[in-house]
Amino acid sequence: MLGRQVRNVFSRSSDSRRDRLRDARLRAHSRQLMHRLELPMPLDPAVLCERLGEFRGTPIRLMAWELPTDGPFGMLISRPHEDAIIYQSHTTKAHQAHIVLHELGHIIAYDLAGERPVATQLRTCYSDRDERDAEVIASTIMCQAILATRRTKRYGIDEPWRPSVYNSLVLAES
Ligand SMILES: [Zn+2]
Repeated sequence: MLGRQVRNVFSRSSDSRRDRLRDARLRAHSRQLMHRLELPMPLDPAVLCERLGEFRGTPIRLMAWELPTDGPFGMLISRPHEDAIIYQSHTTKAHQAHIVLHELGHIIAYDLAGERPVATQLRTCYSDRDERDAEVIASTIMCQAILATRRTKRYGIDEPWRPSVYNSLVLAES
């Protein structure tokens, strides 16, 4: 019994270690993606979808629908030629942005894993792991956008993603 308990403790700790490594990898990937896309700030989720669609070669369509209030706020329909994000039209702009970023998180996670579905797929049901991946990516994008917006305002630059510009300004300041 003890042996099994010890093993359980070990497998749980290695599970959480694996989760942390996976989260870190997703965060790093999301940050790189944000830098590469060089989006104007403040972040507009529609512009993010457009640029990401161009970058990955498969467009991402956004559709605001009046979804039932007892169901999911967002859905993802993956087709061979596009991914469509459907989001609740009857909610605040901030909530809509979060819904879109969450669904984008699913797209980015499965792009990264090379798991693009071959046939049309409506994705509303995900594993806990998939949900966590999507939230890690959505929150990283949100944080990066907040930081970049602050930089934009603070230094009056419109290209917060260019590290050379940012670094030289920081150096000049100190
Ligand atoms: Zn989800």
